[in-house]
Amino acid sequence: AVPLVVAKSTALSAKHGLLIKNRTAFENARKITTIVFDKTGTLTVGKFEVSKVVSLDKDIKENELIRLASALEQKSEHPIATGILKKVKELKLPIPEAGNFKAITGQGVEAIVEGKKLLVVSPGYLTENKLTLPDGFTANDTETVVFVLIDQKLVGYIALSDEIRPESADAIKTLKAENIKSILLTGDNTKVAASVSKTLGMDTFIAEVLPHEKLEKIKELQSKGEFVAMTGDGVNDAPALAQADIGIAVGSGSDIAAETAGIVLVNSNPKDIVSLILFGKATYRKMI
Ligand code: ADP
Ligand code: MG
Repeated sequence: AVPLVVAKSTALSAKHGLLIKNRTAFENARKITTIVFDKTGTLTVGKFEVSKVVSLDKDIKENELIRLASALEQKSEHPIATGILKKVKELKLPIPEAGNFKAITGQGVEAIVEGKKLLVVSPGYLTENKLTLPDGFTANDTETVVFVLIDQKLVGYIALSDEIRPESADAIKTLKAENIKSILLTGDNTKVAASVSKTLGMDTFIAEVLPHEKLEKIKELQSKGEFVAMTGDGVNDAPALAQADIGIAVGSGSDIAAETAGIVLVNSNPKDIVSLILFGKATYRKMI
């Protein structure tokens, strides 16, 4: 006979978009006290749309700015890159070649384009490198902003917007009813993180985190006695996913994240985590 747990976890996979790779992860789901969520693609839809392109250099037009940025982004798989490329294709701008491409982990991308060193980076990169944010810089609370630098000079920025998934608020609410805390952990800027966390009624948020800081944050929660589940999609999330008591890889993410995690969230839907926990609780309640 098929053990009950196997039967249950198989049913979960089929019905709720969960791939349970490690049965202990399913068994332990009922012990979760805190869930650390990544933002893009899990709590949000993960499809960025360019909402604004601003040039800070009178010699560079908006279209030229986004065209240059797209040269770097064609080499990146970040959802921000996808959003920028979509816009450039709509504008029918020719995308230049990029050489010496390098991803700056958790902060952006750099490459040589048309003989110049280009960077497309986060606000955190600017502050870390003592570059001041531009005068009159405005972004709505819900917008992600990336800055364009040519030869280390700030020449403009691109604002992008993403939408909260319709299922997210309900998922967080149910977790709260189960006495499970939800924390937003993101590399995106503080304004965006605060807005998403507030809209969804989450317990707290941690923004502008670098990949190695994600791992530290999980350890810190565990040292406070929390039993931590974490969602993540990137290569950069793998160490933190491995550290978490339950690592949940988001379906559309990297293979490395999926290999590290005990559970794969096939449809990237936070509601499926709620199903996992409720199903786990119900299963083991019956068995004990
Ligand atoms: P998260 O997974 O929480 O979105 P990431 O570590 O992937 O965080 O990214 C953090 C930040 O680094 C982004 O919000 C953005 O500012 C910057 N960034 C990362 N990749 C890119 C990219 N390809 N182009 C521009 N900016 C990027
Ligand atoms: Mg990510």
